[in-house]
Amino acid sequence: MQKRRLTFLITAGPTIEDIDPVRFLGNHSSGKMGYALAKAAKRAGHKVLLISGPTDLEPPAGCTFIPVRSARTMLKAALKFASQADIIIKAAAVADYRPQKTQTQKIKKTATRLTLKLVKNPDILKTLGKRKKSTQLLVGFAAETNDIISNAIQKIANKNLDWIAVNDVSRKDIGFSAGENEITLISRAGNLCHLPKQAKTKLASQMIRLFVMSWQNKQ
Ligand code: C5P
Repeated sequence: MQKRRLTFLITAGPTIEDIDPVRFLGNHSSGKMGYALAKAAKRAGHKVLLISGPTDLEPPAGCTFIPVRSARTMLKAALKFASQADIIIKAAAVADYRPQKTQTQKIKKTATRLTLKLVKNPDILKTLGKRKKSTQLLVGFAAETNDIISNAIQKIANKNLDWIAVNDVSRKDIGFSAGENEITLISRAGNLCHLPKQAKTKLASQMIRLFVMSWQNKQ
C-alpha cells in the first residue's frame, strides 16, 4: 500500500484557568508526551497541528503550533482544526473545572476564608467524539490513579473513541512530568496493547505507527 501523508491534530500540556491576574488553577502536565507524539508523527512524514497549553517546551520544528491557555480556548482551536485531521490525539491534561469568574483585579488577602466557586469546563474530547467522521481516528488519554482499566474502557464508549492510552499517574516514576511513561492502549474492540516503561520519545514512535495502521484499517 502506498504511504499516505496524514494530518494529525494533537493536543498537549495542561490548561490554565485564571483566578485573577496573578493566580491560576493548573496541573502537573509537562506536555512531554504530546510533544513527543507530535515529533514522532512529523518524523514519520505526516502533517502535524499541535494545540498546546502553556509548557516549558520548544514547539517542535515543522509542526503547525497553536498555543492556547484555558480549556475553552483549547476547545475553540480544536473545533477549528478537527475537520482537517485524519487522526486526533488528545494528550492534553484539560482542567475539569475553572473559576466561575476570573477577577480582573488581584484578590486581596483580607478575608480569613475564601471560597472559590468552580464551574465545569467543556469536555473537548467528548465534543470531538460527537462530531467524529467515520474516516477519523480519535484517541484519548486517561490519567488514572485507581480502577485504571475499567475507567478507561468506560471512557472509550462515553467519548466515542477508537483508542485510549492509559497511564497510572499515582506512580512517580512515570506519567505527568517524567521523561518516561508506561502505557496500555485499549481499542474500541477491546484489544489491549501494553507498551512497557520507556522514554516518552520511544513510546510515541510506537504509538504513531499503531495509530496509522489502525487508521488504514478503518478506511
Ligand atoms: O475524563 P477524563 O478527564 O479522564 O478524560 C481524559 C481525556 O479526555 C484526555 O484525552 C483529555 O485530553 C480529555 N479531556 C478533554 N476535555 C476535558 C477533560 C478531559 O478533552 N474537559
